[in-house]
Amino acid sequence: MNRHWLPGLVDTHSHSFHRALRGCTTGEDFWSWRTRMYALVERLDPDSLLALATAAFGEMVLAGITTVHEFHYLHHPDGMDDAVCEAARRAGIRLVLLDTCYLRAGFDATELTPVQRRFSDGDVEQWATRAEKVAATNPDVVVGAAIHSVRAVDPASMEFVASWARARDVPLHLHLSEQPAENDACMTATGRTPTRLAHDHGVLGPLTTAVHCTHVTADDIALLGGTGTTVCLCPTTERDLADGIGPAAALVQAGCGLRVGTDSHAVVDLFEEARAIELDERLATGRRGLHQPDDLLAAATGMVDRIAVDLDSVRLAGYDADDPVPMIVAAATAADVTDVHVSVDVAAELHAAISALR
Ligand SMILES: [Zn+2]
Repeated sequence: MNRHWLPGLVDTHSHSFHRALRGCTTGEDFWSWRTRMYALVERLDPDSLLALATAAFGEMVLAGITTVHEFHYLHHPDGMDDAVCEAARRAGIRLVLLDTCYLRAGFDATELTPVQRRFSDGDVEQWATRAEKVAATNPDVVVGAAIHSVRAVDPASMEFVASWARARDVPLHLHLSEQPAENDACMTATGRTPTRLAHDHGVLGPLTTAVHCTHVTADDIALLGGTGTTVCLCPTTERDLADGIGPAAALVQAGCGLRVGTDSHAVVDLFEEARAIELDERLATGRRGLHQPDDLLAAATGMVDRIAVDLDSVRLAGYDADDPVPMIVAAATAADVTDVHVSVDVAAELHAAISALR
């Protein structure tokens, strides 16, 4: 077999439990999809989350993903955090657990629904206490921080979470401008865009990754680039949820680092995410060549581990032996990843875990 070796793929934005919603065709927009997701949350407990996350992480390993940044907000009942850490151990994937702060239902601070109370620690001090306990009991896991969104965390608490992450020199992530409705609500409540609000409360910077950035203004793009914030786009999820197409080229040009993530696990294939950055933007702009293949591959890879792509795959026939990367970015799929090993029967365990939740 002819192989092309690459650094391990890095999934910069994942919610592994969303895997149980793949193929869900109900709902006409993001918000009705979210209602379905909340119904799933109600059924999950530490045991079922462990089974589901282990199998979902197993699918990622088979796809060549060796590190996952899990944006984890499902903290309650007790045991959910440790279940995700244990799932990563069982599947053999490096875990960066982005312990997510979620405190309110929206800008008007309406009371949390029963489902949303599973995400909340009550206040930001209790969030930090719990996150520090997760880090202490799981020393093999990098525990970073996440602000769920500017709608779910008030400005003072955002500042607290950002300081907490900086003091520990760990990553800080947040969902940003995925939906026009979030922008509108933020403008109405604060007179600022979500990016401007996050910036004014010290959230942006080189340790920060802003996820989606689908609906950002020229001023937002300048703020993100100027602060050296990394952006993570999740094109297959953004397609699936009818979010829109983020301005990746403008963000990179402004100075942002670029990453990709599987987010809702609509598809688990970082080659597809990487090429979608370019292809979706072609559809939006009518222009080709906004991103180079090496840059797209770099958005999906890290610096540790090693995976191989099978160059004898029918999809890659005709590759340039001197530089197979353009062909890999154009046409490789997760199924072309070889030489990865996972000790669980991924398809059977995924099927069992998801069926048990239906
Ligand atoms: Zn997400």
